Amino acid sequence: MLDKFSSHCLKVMLSICFCLLAQTSFAAALQEKGVEGFDDDALEIEKLIDSNVPQAQAELNRYAERFDELSLKQKITYQNLLTDIYTLHGKYHLAKQAASDGLKLTLKLSSPSLLISELLYSRGFSYESIGETELATKDYESGLELAKSLHDNVLIATGLINLGAIYYLTDRYENSLIVLNDAYNIAKQTDDEELKGSVNSELGILYAYLDRAEQSMVYYQQAYQHYKSADKTILSLNALVNIGINHLLEKDYEQAITIYKTIIDESKGLAPDQIMYSAYSGLAWANLKQEQVNPEASYQYLMLSKQYMINIEQYTYEFQYYFDEAFVLFELERFNETLDSIAKVESILQGRMPLGLIKMEAHISLVNLKSKTYAKLGYFQQAYDLQAQRLALTIQWREKKYSQSVSEVRLALEAKEADLQKQVLKNKQTLQEISLLEAEQKQEQQKMYLLYIAVVALIFAWTLIKLVQGQRKLYKASSIDMLTGIANRRKLMRKGHKLLQKAKIKQAEFSVIMIDIDNFKQVNDHYGHSVGDLVLKKVVELGELHLRDSDIFGRFGGEEFIIFLPDTSTVQATKIAQRFRVSVREYSWEVIHDFAKSFTTSISLGIANSAEASTEKQYDLMALINKADSLLYQAKAQGRNKVCC
Ligand code: GH3
Ligand code: MG
Ligand code: MG
Repeated sequence: MLDKFSSHCLKVMLSICFCLLAQTSFAAALQEKGVEGFDDDALEIEKLIDSNVPQAQAELNRYAERFDELSLKQKITYQNLLTDIYTLHGKYHLAKQAASDGLKLTLKLSSPSLLISELLYSRGFSYESIGETELATKDYESGLELAKSLHDNVLIATGLINLGAIYYLTDRYENSLIVLNDAYNIAKQTDDEELKGSVNSELGILYAYLDRAEQSMVYYQQAYQHYKSADKTILSLNALVNIGINHLLEKDYEQAITIYKTIIDESKGLAPDQIMYSAYSGLAWANLKQEQVNPEASYQYLMLSKQYMINIEQYTYEFQYYFDEAFVLFELERFNETLDSIAKVESILQGRMPLGLIKMEAHISLVNLKSKTYAKLGYFQQAYDLQAQRLALTIQWREKKYSQSVSEVRLALEAKEADLQKQVLKNKQTLQEISLLEAEQKQEQQKMYLLYIAVVALIFAWTLIKLVQGQRKLYKASSIDMLTGIANRRKLMRKGHKLLQKAKIKQAEFSVIMIDIDNFKQVNDHYGHSVGDLVLKKVVELGELHLRDSDIFGRFGGEEFIIFLPDTSTVQATKIAQRFRVSVREYSWEVIHDFAKSFTTSISLGIANSAEASTEKQYDLMALINKADSLLYQAKAQGRNKVCC
């Protein structure tokens, strides 16, 4: 009986086992096979991504509901494509998430795969685009290491290109030159036209940064040819945008017009808004600046560019649009409207700080234009007052440019590369010219000088913003945190080190304020990420109100910020911190969003000061930051919305 029972049990158990086994192997077979047709479609989607993003997205969406049926490899490919699509739409937080999801899936792979490198590069790019340079570098380096271990030349070169771009974005031109040259040599040995296009494009940007238009142009042209051969429409158009910018920089307006018209012809209306905008606004500018000024044509092109500008989320486009509009309207002698456009630019500039020096330069050009407009309208007193304001601003600008930008660029250029030496000489010459002009203070010459500054400033502001827009598949990050417009971590640390070095030489006091938004996760959880972003931006705006020109405010990461305050005692820093804390607490948050009336948020702050540190740690930046951080956590522990020092 027992035997019979146990044999029955055994049979049942065995049949269950078989059943399970059969099911598992069936499932495995299904997993292995995945969804038929996906692999071919994936290749098609990959191609579409380069020419028609909305259609690529629609094609991929067809598989969203069947995601569970896809095999592991297919799922990873799906995430990879999704990441690319989000990236091209400029949705970097989503892109980062899609890449992270893909990377999680790769943990199930039985052997290391190049897909992992690809996903790491994609996620790195999202980080780079939202200003998380450090995390981006980490992903790029990990991806590169894996690519090296798998001996994949294309992916090795891609990793080097990514790092090269991070380097030039953080002013490390020499490093950038080294890795991009390596990438160039590797790419030459492959027959990957897209890769060759990217290397050339990045080298073009690097040389443009180094103010070497001729060399830069050669690389851009090569990039264009390679992208064309690779059938990469958007990328080839982007190379043309770069070429157009170079022509404008070189004041070769006729050539610029030819290039921009080619972009419009070749795009057939399918290029992303950023490219279309750049083409039309480039045409507007060239028509305004060429020998036979054509303000009417310029205005028509500007109106066309506006159509595209309004679809682009980045405010730098809006800023640049109204900036151009003001100048075009002035040429058209539509002076009242000129003043309206100027007012728009001013409101965009206010509190937002697009880019430090650019902000000043654009401001000077605008003040000048405003003064000229008032003079045309017969308001001579206003015109005169504005000229005085411009003079004061120009002096400030010159000091700032001399102390920061010019010397930084010059230092960067004094790299070992022999061919860069010429540039150094040119820069020095420019400096000499400036100081010569400074020495000659006669009224007439001063007028000339101001005119020179205004023209340089205008063109500089305009083209640099264009450059910032055009690169890295159209979406490159800079040293600015994309969300808030203040310095990102890398720039913050770089500036911090410099300021502290200066303080050490002067044996001056130096304060560090570390800020963290309280219970910020709850804001995201209750109202969503985009509202969280709004709060982050507003907190930064509020912070900027309390800072002095010499202070550096940057995003340390997530919802943590740092302010470096040179020549500042703990007492002074505490005053600033308290004012910042109160302004966040008392801000009427419902103004920026439909919050419940009771919504409040707060920040906690920790302050460290060099004079209070031990002698050997006094001028050690990390030690000061760590001190501020531990005081910040003390503030949190005491119930938040506090300042601890
Ligand atoms: P505490 O008061 O202790 O600081 O609590 P907290 O919730 O602020 O701190 P926690 O570190 O738990 O959460 C920080 C959150 O900030 C988590 C993260 O998702 C969010 N965050 C980081 N960067 C961004 C961003 O760029 N946008 C948005 N919306 N949220 C972000
Ligand atoms: Mg935090
Ligand atoms: Mg927090």
